[in-house]
Amino acid sequence: RAFNFNAGPAAIPLEVLKQAQEQFVDYKGAGMSIMEMSHRSALYEQVNNEAQSLLRELFGIPDNYHVLLLQGGASTQFAMLPLNLIRPGGAGAYVMTGAWADKALKEAKLVGDTVIAASTEADKFMRMPDMSEIVVPDNASYLHLTSNETIGGTQFTEFPNTGNVPLIADMSSDILSRPIDVSNFGVIYAGAQKNLGPSGVTVVIIRDDLAKDSPKTIPSMFRYDTHVKTNSLYNTPPSFSVYMVSLVLQWIKAKGGVAQMEQYNRDKTKLIYDAIDQSGGFYLGCAQPQSRSLMNITFRIHSEELEKQFIKESEQEGFIGLKGHRDVGGLRASTYNAVPLESCQALAQFMADFQKRNG
Ligand code: PLP
Repeated sequence: RAFNFNAGPAAIPLEVLKQAQEQFVDYKGAGMSIMEMSHRSALYEQVNNEAQSLLRELFGIPDNYHVLLLQGGASTQFAMLPLNLIRPGGAGAYVMTGAWADKALKEAKLVGDTVIAASTEADKFMRMPDMSEIVVPDNASYLHLTSNETIGGTQFTEFPNTGNVPLIADMSSDILSRPIDVSNFGVIYAGAQKNLGPSGVTVVIIRDDLAKDSPKTIPSMFRYDTHVKTNSLYNTPPSFSVYMVSLVLQWIKAKGGVAQMEQYNRDKTKLIYDAIDQSGGFYLGCAQPQSRSLMNITFRIHSEELEKQFIKESEQEGFIGLKGHRDVGGLRASTYNAVPLESCQALAQFMADFQKRNG
C-alpha cells in the first residue's frame, strides 16, 4: 500500500478496510450489504447507536451532550452553528487562525453579527494565539475556534476558559487524536474523513441546552433539535460512512484508546519534525514550534524547484499527498491516527536521502 499522507480524505486503518471487505457483500448474515439495508432496520440502528456510544466512551463525552451524525461536511456546520446559536442581539465570536477559521467566519457573516476575538494574521497564521490574546466580547453568543488548522499546520495545545459563553471547536482535523475535556466545550464538530473514517458523515457533539430553542424560522434539516429528537435518523443517513466510522472507533479502542493515539501520533510526528530540525536549514518548518500540529506537518525547502523535485521523487517512491495546500504551497505531511509509524519512518528516511542528494 502507498505511504498515504493525504490531508483528507485520508488514510483508513488497513485492518478496518479488511474487516469492511469481509462484510461488504453480506453484513452479519443479512444477505445484503450494509449500504443496501433500510436505515430503519434493527441491524442498522445498532450500527448507528454503536458509533455514538463508542464516540462517547473514547472521547469521554458527558451524559448532557448529544452525539449527532449528520451530512453536509464540516462546511455545513459553518452555517448551521450561527443559524442555531447566534441569539437576538448577540454575535458569533471567531478566533482567526487561518483558512478554515476564515471559512467558518465568512459563513457566519451571512447569517448574523460576528466579531473577531483574536487573530494571528500578523504572523501569517503560523501560530495559534496565546490564551491571553483572546477577548470574548460581552455580547458573544459563542466563541468559535479551529483546534487544528489543516492547511497551515498549527494546533491549539490549550483552550480558553470562556465562562458562560459556549466554546465551539471545529475539530475536523484532530478529533480523537488526543484526549480533550469535552465538558469545556458547548459544541465540537468534525467531518469524518481525516481521523474517523470516510467522508460523508459529520460528527456534532452538542451540549443539550444548546440543542434547544433554535429560532423557529430555521428549516428542519438545519436545526440541531431535529437530529436530537430523531437519533440522527430524521432522513436517510450516510449509512455506509457511519458503519465505517463505527469500525474505525472499534480500532481506536482496540489500540488502547485516545491517550494511546496521542502517544502514537507524538512518536510519528517527532520523526518528521526531527528530520526538519536536524537538516541544518535544508528543510524549514512553517508553523512556529509552540503551535506545531500533531496532524499536519507543513514545511518548505529553500527553492521551489527542489520542492517540485521532492514531490516528484517522493511519488515515485510511493509517498502520496506531500504537496502543500494550493493556497500556501510548500510541502505537507498529514499524520492522522491511521497513518502507520512505518510510513513516517519511511518519510524521515526519504527526507534525509533527498537532502543528501540535493543539499
Ligand atoms: N474544517 C477543517 C479544519 C478542515 O480541515 C476541513 C477540511 O479539510 C473542513 C473544515 C471542511 O470539511 P468538509 O469538507 O467536511 O466540509
